[in-house]
Amino acid sequence: MILITGAAGYIGSHSAIDFIKSGYDVVILDNLSVGHIEIIERLKTFAKFAKGNLVDFIKGDTRDTETLDKLFETYKIDAVVHFAANSLVNESVTNPSKYYNNNVSGSISLLDAMMKHNVKKIVFSSTCATYGEPEYVPIDEKHPQKPVNPYGNSKLAMEFAIKDYSHAYGLKYTIFRYFNVIGADSENVSGEWHDIETHLVPNILKADENKVFNLFGTDYDTKDGTCVRDYIDVCDLARAHTMAYEYLQNNESTIINLGTGDGQSVKEIFSAVENTLNVKVPLKICGRREGDPAKLIANNSKAREVLKWQSETPLNISVKNAANWEKVLKTLQNATNEAQKASENGEEKKL
Ligand code: UDP
Repeated sequence: MILITGAAGYIGSHSAIDFIKSGYDVVILDNLSVGHIEIIERLKTFAKFAKGNLVDFIKGDTRDTETLDKLFETYKIDAVVHFAANSLVNESVTNPSKYYNNNVSGSISLLDAMMKHNVKKIVFSSTCATYGEPEYVPIDEKHPQKPVNPYGNSKLAMEFAIKDYSHAYGLKYTIFRYFNVIGADSENVSGEWHDIETHLVPNILKADENKVFNLFGTDYDTKDGTCVRDYIDVCDLARAHTMAYEYLQNNESTIINLGTGDGQSVKEIFSAVENTLNVKVPLKICGRREGDPAKLIANNSKAREVLKWQSETPLNISVKNAANWEKVLKTLQNATNEAQKASENGEEKKL
């Protein structure tokens, strides 16, 4: 059985979908501080018709050692796929305590519980933010790691901890460093749902006549002056985690970038959304957003060679799935708002 932490969130939920689709039984731990119970409900419905099972959802925190002990005593967990974390760069700058507490203390508590209960495999979500300002692109796994914000620091701290636990206690790991994740599964079981949305694709999709899309910076040293990123589909990314789990059964620990190996500018993504959906999105050109490097592109040879993984989903499909998800999301948010209003008025309404 696989334990997935943070599976009520965007990437974790897609990983749960992939594991369950592949026939694995999954237990989810999520404190719902960032994730949403509605996603768990949708995962449960999805799992009813899938090969594997969603065996249990435990609302709990990785820092809660009692919950962890109980979980590891109840279920025979073979490996942990660990997503639970906060991931807003700006917030990490103003509130580092939250990031060190959740991303570092929480993860250490999880590692200790794993060691105590003899669970010796982990797939860990790290980030290209651990590289900091790139010294060269495409960025390979040997690129120096000099994060420029507390979020990146918290993830790098955990990379060190995982390596040290591996050396001392025999923990086997795959550390993934993600580039920019986009899209949604084609059945729209899940998708991006952040209470504060900062990401490019959902922000373009959310723009309408009342809310323009703000494009940050057109004076970068790139092909068209806007920032270049490596946008990888969330389902392709999720599949890599299932492959990493299988890889760890018979192979040694490894660290792998997950990206397409291709760079797209903000303007290119903007046009891709307009063209794919045949819409005109209201646009405002703004100044640079603080802390945005000009170019981040993955060298993904290691993922292809070691894991035999490659990204498969074309950009227009990621955009279509993300756009469909936005419609689902509106319905979910309306239902949540109505339920909240009803409960404020003393009525009870089922979500
Ligand atoms: N971006 C933008 N408008 C937005 C959100 C993002 O112009 O509303 C730009 C951002 O400045 C960056 C790129 O899109 O150059 C990707 O940003 P995102 O927040 O999606 O990912 P990041 O690379 O920061 O992790």
